[in-house]
Amino acid sequence: MINLVLFGKPGAGKGTQAEFLKSHYQLVHISTGDVFRYNIKNATDLGKLAQSYMDKGDLVPDEVTINMLEAEVEKNPAAKGFIFDGFPRTEAQAKSLDAFLERKAMSISGTIALEATDDELVERLLKRGETSGRPDDQDESKIRNRFDEYNQKTAPLRSFYTAQNKFHSINGIGSIEEITARLMTVIDAL
Ligand code: AMP
Repeated sequence: MINLVLFGKPGAGKGTQAEFLKSHYQLVHISTGDVFRYNIKNATDLGKLAQSYMDKGDLVPDEVTINMLEAEVEKNPAAKGFIFDGFPRTEAQAKSLDAFLERKAMSISGTIALEATDDELVERLLKRGETSGRPDDQDESKIRNRFDEYNQKTAPLRSFYTAQNKFHSINGIGSIEEITARLMTVIDAL
């Protein structure tokens, strides 16, 4: 079983790369951002709660996000493995993910961060916002707030996973194919 975590600031290409990796390695892709957006679209209670945070570019509270992630994993009992995209984003989420997987006799195989500069990411996100319709992609101050959330809450996970010998990072600037190849080099050596 391969269980991967993709890290990277908003716009780093996690979703795009997860699409390739999931078919190549036959994994189930769980993007917590996508699950929240699905709930917003369907006006569920979870969606209403998440929207107020997401619209500002703030993280949704841990408890809500952790419960949702666990439910998504439980929906796929026959999975050969998972790509966690956009989760964990805090140390509390990372600890609970480890505990949850351990209860299921599973574990994280490795985590990979896609690295790119803020200026490059702002440019990509504003461009994506023109077609995605996502309010959090259309305003530079919301984008910068998402970077701040990443720096404060998610970046510390680098040392969390380095301590477990499970942290890898790759250059996230280049063509989609080049970045996929870099990811596969790391994954195939896990
Ligand atoms: P993303 O699609 O990964 O860029 O996520 C969009 C937004 O969804 C984030 O800015 C957060 O508001 C929320 N979100 C997604 N994943 C998480 C998470 N693991 N923890 C907290 N909030 C999250």
